[in-house]
Amino acid sequence: MSLINDMEKILISREEIQEKVQELAGTLSEDYKEEFPLLVCVLKGAMPFMSDLVKEMDIHLEMDFMDVSTYHGGTSSTGEVKIEKDLNTSVEGRDILIVEDIIDSGLTLGYLVDLLKYRKAKSVKIVTLLDKPTGRKNGLSADYSGFVIPHEFVVGYGLDYEEKYRNLPYVGVLKPSVYGG
Ligand code: 5GP
Ligand code: MG
Ligand code: MG
Repeated sequence: MSLINDMEKILISREEIQEKVQELAGTLSEDYKEEFPLLVCVLKGAMPFMSDLVKEMDIHLEMDFMDVSTYHGGTSSTGEVKIEKDLNTSVEGRDILIVEDIIDSGLTLGYLVDLLKYRKAKSVKIVTLLDKPTGRKNGLSADYSGFVIPHEFVVGYGLDYEEKYRNLPYVGVLKPSVYGG
């Protein structure tokens, strides 16, 4: 048994992800070297990305975690945003970098950016590993983005299908048979 047998294809390999994470971390370290940013990991999907990213950032930073859900176990967005877990840290006057796994409709992040600004963050920026611009339902764009991908449902490197596949070190598309088809 290997999880790779459930994959229709691998979109982004482990090596490509590692290389991109290093590149993003280099840029972020330069841009935030004066700031002591607060990195906000959007659970659970951004956990592997956050973990790898901060290890490559050679500056002082603080981490916190938030869980806002829009998808509820399925494969399509409801646009409904719910705070499952809030931050422990005050964002007032802080430079915030939201760390996301993927931006599709942009509704989750649109909500989050507005919330952090309302709470008087000094700046709010977004780094996302994956971007599906064709899915966008608002004008949102990431300040830092790893890969632009087609409008397909992907899993791996934090992204799940019914809570599974988050632990894959690569990003791929599942075989239709996995969805019970
Ligand atoms: P958005 O609000 O931008 O439509 O979607 C935000 C969240 O939906 C992402 O953080 C992620 O949890 C989930 N999502 C969006 N596209 C995909 C996808 O292709 N695969 C998986 N597994 N989750 C996705
Ligand atoms: Mg997410
Ligand atoms: Mg999910």
